[in-house]
Amino acid sequence: CTPGGTKVREENILVTVRMRPLSLKEVAAYDLVAWDISDENTIVSKNLYHDRHGGSYTFDKVFDPTCSTWKVYEEGARDVALSSLSGINATIFAYGQTSSGKTFTMRGVTEHAVKDIYEHIRFTPEREFVLKFSALEIYNETVVDLLNRESGFLRLLDDPERGTIVDKLIEEVITDGQHLRHLISICEAQRQVGETALNDKSSRSHQIIRLTIESSLREDTGCVKSFLASLNLVDLAGSERVSQTNTDGARLKEGSHINRSLLTLTTVIRKLSGGKRSGHIPYRNSKLTRILQTSLGGNARTAIICTMSPALSHVEQSRNTLLFATSAK
Ligand code: ADP
Ligand code: MG
Repeated sequence: CTPGGTKVREENILVTVRMRPLSLKEVAAYDLVAWDISDENTIVSKNLYHDRHGGSYTFDKVFDPTCSTWKVYEEGARDVALSSLSGINATIFAYGQTSSGKTFTMRGVTEHAVKDIYEHIRFTPEREFVLKFSALEIYNETVVDLLNRESGFLRLLDDPERGTIVDKLIEEVITDGQHLRHLISICEAQRQVGETALNDKSSRSHQIIRLTIESSLREDTGCVKSFLASLNLVDLAGSERVSQTNTDGARLKEGSHINRSLLTLTTVIRKLSGGKRSGHIPYRNSKLTRILQTSLGGNARTAIICTMSPALSHVEQSRNTLLFATSAK
């Protein structure tokens, strides 16, 4: 794993790619590695002849299979995560096909971000911080509270001050790092409940963990400058195309909804990247982008960690991921 740092440029979205190792199953099936990482920014297809896009893809950073999640966090998410402490809304996504490592990566990134945020709070005694936690799942364009599934499908409301808000979503005030980790583990368990009820659901649902961070200078410092921002940690549904799943009615419905949220997200990201911020940005076309609207574009910071399998058997999906990642830059 190569050393070096990445800086979030003001205008752009930080786009990195993490390649996971071959799984035991892939090794057992004599699957081959389809990609080379030629330097810390570039992935090259081993079979250039078959790659219409020249076979070379460049990003802010490429993490090879030996990279730790700490390294991925440090160079692919940290600046964005910490900007939420100074009043800038931030969003970190994991994007990729099912089994490419999104959940694995986001769990680690969330853990490191939580540690980092509490470290920062400890070293900033002049400010008083209030952290709040909420978490939701979007499945078939329905929104469910991961802290309280019993509340059913939640509605989105438009608030003139705060933008889109999720009606009745529980926002828990966090007492300390341990409390926060406990809340995250509740959400993970809740997500699994949903999964057993409907096989393989996590590959078709989006999960958002949102930390709202408010801080103000303590009174004795004289000035009362305050910050308020949210940090969104988003584990997206699998990016594979609908045509690759079963085409019975139910699956098609799910597929089209996932495509709606993911397609809208990709359109939004594309429009926000490369300085094309002037045109209409279709945030309102999906629940995912409505909920994240104030944390995408404008004054917000975004990091996208694209995850991919190295395997030849997944080469088409990996290429789609790399094409999305390229368009996000
Ligand atoms: P996704 O959420 O994209 O469907 P997962 O995060 O569940 O994928 O990863 C699929 C499997 O691969 C899991 O068993 C996970 O532990 C493993 N895995 C993913 N990324 C890595 C990695 N970078 N190093 C080691 N194992 C990984
Ligand atoms: Mg997952």
